[in-house]
This record gives sequence, structure tokens and C-alpha cells, in this order.
Amino acid sequence: MITAKALSSQADWRQEWARAIRDPNELLRELALDPALLPGAQAAARRFSLRAPRSFVARMRQGDPDDPLLRQILPLAIELEPTPGFVADPLGEQAAQTAPGVLHKYHGRALLMATSACALHCRYCFRRAFPYAQAQIGARQWPQALAYLASDPSLCEVILSGGDPLALSNQRLSELLGGLERIPHLKRLRIHSRLPIILPERIDDGLLGILAHTRLRPVLVVHANHPREIDGTVRQALERLALAGVTLLNQSVLLHRVNDDATTLAELSEALFAARVLPYYLHLLDPVQGAAHFAVKESAAFAIMNTLRQRLPGYLAPRLVREQPGQLAKTLVESHC
Ligand SMILES: *Cc1c(COP(=O)(O)O)cnc(C)c1O
Ligand code: SF4
Repeated sequence: MITAKALSSQADWRQEWARAIRDPNELLRELALDPALLPGAQAAARRFSLRAPRSFVARMRQGDPDDPLLRQILPLAIELEPTPGFVADPLGEQAAQTAPGVLHKYHGRALLMATSACALHCRYCFRRAFPYAQAQIGARQWPQALAYLASDPSLCEVILSGGDPLALSNQRLSELLGGLERIPHLKRLRIHSRLPIILPERIDDGLLGILAHTRLRPVLVVHANHPREIDGTVRQALERLALAGVTLLNQSVLLHRVNDDATTLAELSEALFAARVLPYYLHLLDPVQGAAHFAVKESAAFAIMNTLRQRLPGYLAPRLVREQPGQLAKTLVESHC
């Protein structure tokens, strides 16, 4: 049952979502940045729009164009320069769809793109050029997606992804979960979401109730790249999820001049663990068009990982992986020297 209190907190996060900054000019003014950045930002935003909730922008430093949180969302002219090897669909996702909105590449688990909406537009996103409209992502495809999941008894885990699946209202989410719970071979529900980090208001009583009461074992994989993303409000939201019995993991992307040094990543692991989250994956950048300036060389990634492993207990060092089309799992990237 959705209580009046849960409904009112739902209104809060929806308002925050709607008030997100979408105009590059406003972002620059808000952070007292050089107006010379504007033409480039506007041009790049026409290709992939700007979107950043205000509470996330408030965690950025004033007047610093190199702020690691800002770099993740500020559209730059350099995105428009084509780079060989950086393409629209680097993971071949369109070809991997087994039903509308379902990606089934790995044994035992399938990924359901529940919605195409995101609260934040990350400039390095591998789905930035993904034609969601053509891929028919959304609630209208759920019956076909559920029928596919029901038809394959080898599946024991469903991964809700997107976009950001927590962009769905609690009402929509419980409808979807109801359908998933009726599939007897499913045991685990995994949610890949950046919202607990970007808009912690989303972790409301209604959502906590849904996750605490589902028959499926809930795992939530959040996405934070830098320790400053995790402030007190985020920590509280994550702790409430942990108390509701949700297993919490984090995935990050290794990004040039955002988190490509061992000190930043060690601090990130510490901040995550303090909020009851274990590091899971550190992804090498997928070569998506417009993101080449975030790439980190593999040799540099190894060096960072080696330092990280010397500084942290094993369980706080994420696994460095890359996704290769056609492989049966994420590929562990290891040094051969
Ligand atoms: C990454 C991914 C998964 C999950 O892989 P894990 O190694 O289990 O985290 C599942 N399906 C698809 C299509 C993926 O891209
Ligand atoms: S939240 Fe995730 S899916 Fe959405 S834009 Fe960022 S990286 Fe892409």
C-alpha cells in the first residue's frame, strides 16, 4: 500500500527531477564559469542534451572548469570531433536484443531496459547515441519482455537497467516487479541505477517498502565515479537501503581527469564502504562517439589498479573490466607484466 507520506516524498523527488538544469548558460552562471565555454557547450548539447539535478550541481566547486563532477556533465566542443574507433553503438547492443528492450548476453541473467530516462546525462555514457525510440524502450514493451523472461528457465536474475530504472514511479515499478515475481525461475532482482547518488530523494518510503517486501533477492548497483559525489544525504539514502535488506554495489567508469588516479579511487572506495556499498566494477571507457577525451590508456589503468591494490583491502578494490561485444562475460583486464 502506498501511504500518504510515501506519496508526498514521491512528489518531492519528481519536483527535483523536473527542476534539473538543462540550459548550458544557466549551468555556467550557477557555477560562475567563464562564458567563453558557452558556444561549445551549446553545440555539444544539441547532439546530446545537458541535464543535471540541482543538488548534484551544488556538490561542484564554484569557478572550477576542471571540477571532476562538472566534467562528467558539461557538454564540450571536443565531443563533436570524430575520433577513429569511437562509434555510436560500441557494444553492439542493438543486435543483442532478444526481445524488445531485453539484452540477454550472459548465462543466467538478462537485462531489461525498463525506461530510457536518466536524471543526469553523463557525457561518457555508452548509450548517449543509443536510439531508444527505435529500440522501443518503455512500459508498452514490458508484456513481451516478461514473456521472454518467462520462456527461458535458465534465467535466475533479471537486471533492470535503462536509462535509469528508478526513474519509474513506485507505482510503475511495483507493477513491473509483480510481473517478475510471478516468473518462478527468477530468484534475484538487480537494479542498475545512478539515482541514489544523483537524486537521493528518490530513495523514499514507498521504494524501500517495495524492495523490502519483494520475493526476489534485491541487489542495487549504484554508479559513483568520484568521492565528492557521496555527501551526507547520499550516505543516508544508501544506509536506508542497506537496512531494508538490499545488497549494495558500485560500478564506476575510469575517466581521464575525473578519477584516473589511485588516491581518488581509494577515497571513493572508502566513501562507498562508509555508506555500506562495496566496489564492484571499474569499467574501461566504452569507445562511444563524443567521449574520446575521457579515455585512459590501458597501461595507465594497470598502474592505477596496482597502486590501489597495495593501498586497500582486497574487498575494497574494484575489478577492472571492459565489455567486448560477443564475449560471455565482462572481460577482466589484467596486467601481463
Ligand atoms: C554487464 C551486463 C550484465 C551483468 O554482468 P555481471 O558481470 O553479472 O555484472 C548482464 N547483461 C548485460 C547485457 C550486460 O551488459
Ligand atoms: S546515468 Fe547511466 S545510463 Fe544514464 S546517462 Fe549516466 S551513464 Fe548513461
